[in-house]
Amino acid sequence: MAHEKGSISIHTENIFPIIKKFLYSDHEIFLRELVANAMDATSKLQALASKGEFNGEIGETKIKISIDKEAKTLTISDRGLGMTAEEVKKYINQVAFSGATEFLDKYKDVKEAQQMIGHFGLGFYSSFMVSDHVTIYTKSHKEGSEAAKWTCDGTTEFELTAHDKADRGTEIVLHLAADSEEFLENHRISEILNKYCRFLPFEIEFEGKVINQTRPIWTKSPNELKDEDYVKFYKEMYPTAEDPLFWIHLNVDYPFNLTGILYFPKVKQDFVFQKNRIQLYSRQVFITDEVKDVVPEFLTLLHGVIDSPDIPLNVSRSYLQADGNVKKINAHITKKVADKLNELFNNDRKVYEEKWDSIGLFVKYGMMTDDKFYDRASNFALLKNIKNEYYTFAEYREKVAINQTDKSNRLVYIYATDLEKQDAYIESAKKRSYDVLRFDGVMVDNHFITTLERKLENTLMRRVDADTVDNIVDKGETQEVMLSEDEQNSLKDLFKKVSGKETIKVQSLPPDEMPVIISLPEFMRRMKEMAVVQGMDYMKDLPAFLEVSVNANHSLILRLLKEQDEQRKEQLALQVYDLALLSQNMLGGAALTKFINRSVQFVA
Ligand code: ADP
Ligand code: MG
Repeated sequence: MAHEKGSISIHTENIFPIIKKFLYSDHEIFLRELVANAMDATSKLQALASKGEFNGEIGETKIKISIDKEAKTLTISDRGLGMTAEEVKKYINQVAFSGATEFLDKYKDVKEAQQMIGHFGLGFYSSFMVSDHVTIYTKSHKEGSEAAKWTCDGTTEFELTAHDKADRGTEIVLHLAADSEEFLENHRISEILNKYCRFLPFEIEFEGKVINQTRPIWTKSPNELKDEDYVKFYKEMYPTAEDPLFWIHLNVDYPFNLTGILYFPKVKQDFVFQKNRIQLYSRQVFITDEVKDVVPEFLTLLHGVIDSPDIPLNVSRSYLQADGNVKKINAHITKKVADKLNELFNNDRKVYEEKWDSIGLFVKYGMMTDDKFYDRASNFALLKNIKNEYYTFAEYREKVAINQTDKSNRLVYIYATDLEKQDAYIESAKKRSYDVLRFDGVMVDNHFITTLERKLENTLMRRVDADTVDNIVDKGETQEVMLSEDEQNSLKDLFKKVSGKETIKVQSLPPDEMPVIISLPEFMRRMKEMAVVQGMDYMKDLPAFLEVSVNANHSLILRLLKEQDEQRKEQLALQVYDLALLSQNMLGGAALTKFINRSVQFVA
């Protein structure tokens, strides 16, 4: 073969500096690309052999990576199918360079290019991100073919000569650029290999050691595996996590290809949403842990791996969202997760209930964000009450139907978000034999309540302190206040003065309820909560929305009416008002100090 110098014909001259600039933050992916090519070359050779088109000895197939610190080179070698000189021209000069040109055309916008680079393999060309020049030594598997040496500095000029490489396969030598010498450090290369190549299907050797598992468990069949295998793999992937609750082994080959394992992690109540714990692979090569568009949003809270050659990684995010395959994958995963939960629920309700506090988080989040999932999950989603009893939606409806239906025939679900703070109200509800649900999850419950109200027919959700116990389920049986108009007005005036509020309600409440009750209407409270979530504090002034109800049947109130000493009357009224504030946890600072001093005087 003649020594050949040539010019690669592509329409963008000098793409190299532009690409280098684009890919600044993600230089390390060059290694993934080169190892992936080595892997492709090896599996292609095996495919040829199995079709009888290659009859030689396959022998060793390790992909080897080595560093020469002195020569400042990094070498990736394989024993795959190799290339003839003609093929180098075709595949490297044309395919690899046109791939890079195409990338440039697609991502003229620097921001988008940067976003995509983790997803988009630039292929062989990415080696120029870190190299001054690159040399390829390659010998084709084809009988009698001559080895070739190709050198290029990333511009369109290349050199191609014959070489005496004796062994089949390809060796890529990167002459690292001055600004890329980090890739001469063993630990840096180990780190990159571990990130991208940990589960590649062919052995990869670095520093004399094989660094990967060629048959990770998601590629195996579930009946080959025991629970311990799944847990062990989980621990390898997430060393600091507790044991998973359960897992789902995904295995689809029609209408798209997908394998993987999704783990439900154990979460604590003070759980912070931790996304991006699922890793996405394409034929066992790590692509990204940003699975946002591939996995339904609510499942990004799970852990595990998904491997699919059918996920188009080399396109923009908006395209990905519209992609038919991705949509099908989404729907499939959602269905699988729902099926698994349903199975757990049906097989062993007790165990399922024990796990509910953790599972519930995903289920609720899913029900809030995905209507289809809501429908599926409404069979196995549970409601938990303050006695820690669990009910399905249907069971709960039946449980409270008789006692908690209001005058307009609506069911009222009463809930508490803080068992300590709302204790006084919970006690009142218990006296009426009302059931109180427990929604004290920090992140999700607030929104879940709104979802339930939207989805459940004819049902109101009311927090236990949203009103006086008589009004919380408004049965239309409120009793007449037995006090005269004058008496009522005098009470209103007194409590207006004491509380500084414009409106005071005088109500006929049970004598054993508190003399004064403060409640925050459900609607107002939710408005406020929403404002807080949205980072607005215009409703910070919560006390302005409080409703004050005076219990006309309480002996203390009746005594107040009869009190002749104006000063003492006011002191007493203040005292009962403060007590009401106290039971809402709203008494603090100077007001609390005054209350305590006043209490001491009363007792003394
Ligand atoms: P892609 O892998 O997507 O085809 P690349 O730019 O990574 O694009 O590689 C371009 C082509 O160069 C490959 O399709 C393959 O034909 C050839 N090639 C690259 N690396 C090797 C290798 N190690 N052995 C044999 N052929 C290779
Ligand atoms: Mg490639």
